[in-house]
Amino acid sequence: MIDLPGDNSFSIFMIDIDRFRDINDTLGHMNGDAFLRAIADRLKSLSQSNYILSRSGGDEFVIVMPDSNEASAVSFARSLIKGMQEPVEIAGNLLVVSLGIGISIFPENGPDGQSLLSHAESAMRRCKKEARGSFCVSSTADNRAAQDRLLLGSALRDSLARGLLNLHYQPQVDIRTGRLYGAEALSRWNHPTLGNIYPSRFIAVAEDTGQIETIGTWSLEEAVGQLVKWDGAGLHVPAVSVNLSAAHFRNRDLPALIERILREHDIQPQRLTVEITESVMMGENEDTMTGLAAIHNLGVGLSMDDFGTGYSSLSRLTRLPLTEIKIDRSFIMNLEHDANAQAVTTAVIGIGNRLKMTVVTEGVETESQLELLEGLNCDVAQGYLFARPMTPDDMLAWARQKMKITQ
Ligand code: C2E
Ligand code: MG
Ligand code: MG
Repeated sequence: MIDLPGDNSFSIFMIDIDRFRDINDTLGHMNGDAFLRAIADRLKSLSQSNYILSRSGGDEFVIVMPDSNEASAVSFARSLIKGMQEPVEIAGNLLVVSLGIGISIFPENGPDGQSLLSHAESAMRRCKKEARGSFCVSSTADNRAAQDRLLLGSALRDSLARGLLNLHYQPQVDIRTGRLYGAEALSRWNHPTLGNIYPSRFIAVAEDTGQIETIGTWSLEEAVGQLVKWDGAGLHVPAVSVNLSAAHFRNRDLPALIERILREHDIQPQRLTVEITESVMMGENEDTMTGLAAIHNLGVGLSMDDFGTGYSSLSRLTRLPLTEIKIDRSFIMNLEHDANAQAVTTAVIGIGNRLKMTVVTEGVETESQLELLEGLNCDVAQGYLFARPMTPDDMLAWARQKMKITQ
């Protein structure tokens, strides 16, 4: 932990190297180490002698700048970015480095080292999302993210260990036949004292605190196990979809994990679909691509979630082993009144059909949206029109009442 220098105002810089992983992967770990040493030297040469420099892990560095305020911190951040424009030479390669820098300032962003570091980290993460090679000063939103990480992070760890998370399921309906196509598993966290916490909030915390793989593994186990339970109760849900995060796809053991879970529950691979968001694809990381191919080869479905919200290129769509595209809710919301949303939806359905992928639309809330989608030849719909996400028992009761699927 950092020893805070006196009472004066000072700034903390959390610095992360963009795409360091690629450098390690292409040049090897020895050169990766040499590269980190060169970056450390460069950071040191750009700092004044009373600054405190440390490496906080992997490709992350922390600098404490004494006697500074926001203006002088910003000016130092600019000099760091400028100073990094000069290439670094490693094993005969000239590498240009870009940094993501998050800045927190004492006392505005917290009374102690832990909260200041946490705020700087949130700012750094936001910065890396927004643009490469830039800096961000901690904002109110970062404060909230930092607080979430500190407070919710440990509560989540505890809840995961005690089995306090559960999955709800939302049915997906085949538009042409009206039959059940599948169900999407969505995590729910009802904490004994903190109350109900939305996935949009705790999934981000899980990602930031290194717990997202635990959640992914747990949802896979739980959802596949649920298929067996429904089968036993006489409800045949053809397939279950599980959301997995980008970080999980970089783990080389993911295909083996999926294979083991399917084998242990004796469930056919075709009855599992994993949903990935466009951000998984953006880096085109080699491990991710190998993993996707291995999962596809198992016979498990791969679905691109929230399609249309990210930066997918159409050529990339054809290169990925996808079996399904899910058009984002924002397009469906505007379908009736917005010609652009209709044009995009029509185009995506057409492309999906051509590429032999099933097209699912999420967020279908009204009969007229469903009729429009039927007219556009869309395959599957999911949304409040049919049902909200619900407990496994409620899903069973719902399906018995509404669907032509029970025995
Ligand atoms: P998603 O995968 O796109 O899931 C669909 C979200 O839309 C769900 O929100 C669902 O409740 C909501 N939804 C479904 N139909 C309608 C509708 O007709 N109208 C409206 N307004 N909303 C509808 P939820 O459950 O809050 O989940 C939010 C997001 O959190 C999910 O978006 C997914 O990205 C993430 N998520 C949830 N569970 C998990 C999980 O176990 N692992 C990971 N990695 N992410 C998860
Ligand atoms: Mg999803
Ligand atoms: Mg979605």
